[in-house]
Amino acid sequence: TRPAYCPPDVEQLGRATWTFLHTTAAYYPERPTPNQRANMLNLLHSLPILYPCSHCASHLGEVMKTNPPDVSGQFALSRWLCERHNEVNERLGKKLFDCSKTDERWKDGPPDGSCD
Ligand code: FAD
Repeated sequence: TRPAYCPPDVEQLGRATWTFLHTTAAYYPERPTPNQRANMLNLLHSLPILYPCSHCASHLGEVMKTNPPDVSGQFALSRWLCERHNEVNERLGKKLFDCSKTDERWKDGPPDGSCD
């Protein structure tokens, strides 16, 4: 493993970015204001332009054309993001994530309280 002071590689950047995106989606309101919706759309639409892994960014841009972000509320957004992440998982040969478990993974923790 590389020392912690090294610039992030594609994997570290990916983990950090998914953590940010899934957590932000988990805390997004179920009834967002028009302003919150607009800002979430801006955040997501900026990724294919700014995300500093060019092949990741262009893949995301392509999938966002056929599956535009659903920013109507927390549940729909978390689901949308989970599905996009699963598309990347599939491409990389990783296990698919159960999208009914996004709140448990990113907000509530498991029912056994082991993360409390
Ligand atoms: P990650 O995939 O980073 O996942 C982190 C954690 O999220 C997992 O441990 C799991 O608990 C949880 N998780 C997994 N799947 C889901 C899901 N569907 N919904 C909710 N939670 C989930 N890498 C490439 O090599 N090529 C690419 O084209 C590419 N495109 C990317 C595009 C984007 C927008 C981003 C953010 C990252 C991309 N990456 C890409 C990086 C890649 O997705 C992984 O982040 C990286 O390979 C590290 O993987 P990981 O196994 O540590 O877990």
